[in-house]
Amino acid sequence: MPTLVFTHPECRLHDMGRGHPECGQRLDAITDHLRATGLDAALIFRDAPLVDREALCRAHSANYVNELEATLQELEVTGEHHAFDPDTIACAHTHRAVQRAAGAAVAATEAVMRGEARAAFCAVRPPGHHATRDNAMGFCFYNNVAVAARHALDMMGLQRVAIVDFDVHHGNGTEDIIANDERVLMVSFFQHPLYPGTGTRPLGDNMVNLPVPPYTRGPELRKLIEQHWVPRLDAFAPQMVFISAGFDAHREDELGQLGLVEADYEWITQRIKEVADRHAQGRIVSCLEGGYNLGALARSVATHLRVLAEV
Ligand SMILES: [Zn+2]
Repeated sequence: MPTLVFTHPECRLHDMGRGHPECGQRLDAITDHLRATGLDAALIFRDAPLVDREALCRAHSANYVNELEATLQELEVTGEHHAFDPDTIACAHTHRAVQRAAGAAVAATEAVMRGEARAAFCAVRPPGHHATRDNAMGFCFYNNVAVAARHALDMMGLQRVAIVDFDVHHGNGTEDIIANDERVLMVSFFQHPLYPGTGTRPLGDNMVNLPVPPYTRGPELRKLIEQHWVPRLDAFAPQMVFISAGFDAHREDELGQLGLVEADYEWITQRIKEVADRHAQGRIVSCLEGGYNLGALARSVATHLRVLAEV
């Protein structure tokens, strides 16, 4: 069974300004490394389509979608910039990029549901897990994973899906959208204290939040995952597993202070894959979130993909 990678050149063009860590070179680093290692031969690359408005409105309020679309369309015409917060800046290319990023997640979900692949990875930006139902924040505009999860539930006939978030930052936007939606179980770990400062008190019973202090390393995180994620995921028996795949918990990443290395991402991906194999016919849709040290990001994504593609 092949593993699909959804991406698009327009995701690269979204630009939040000189020196911003969430930059187009992140995608270049990933694709260059996949080519250099020959791993690209084990993957099937597809262009991410543009997302439908209806798909966005399953995770975001219609008001938010309308306002964001209007703002981004205006920037396409004027070529100006708009700051949603000091770190979340839209430019003329942002509209197409956010539509491709969410469109990738939806298309990946449909492809995996149709049995075209067991797993799909979305090499897209902007990331999504800080985008709440009503707000852009933390480099995120649309919540790609939440949009895809709701698409699987509302349009593809699934009753239960899991979201696994291993980004160093708490996925506050995803939690805001899916808290108390009993069709979704979200499990995550994140550094605390760290941006955005949320997550220590879960907003719903369908959340397994593991805040960990700075300088936590792989062995401790593996224990926590075995103790807290795996039993809840097995009890929930998801029919599909979504991953908010952020690689900024890597030891070399300067946006967080956790100590993961490639072997930890391999181990975590393997545990997630086992859950998907046990309950979900192996169905996994993984979406890129953070990861800002270009070398560590590229190597970690390759490790993640090697497990998903079983190569
Ligand atoms: Zn992050």
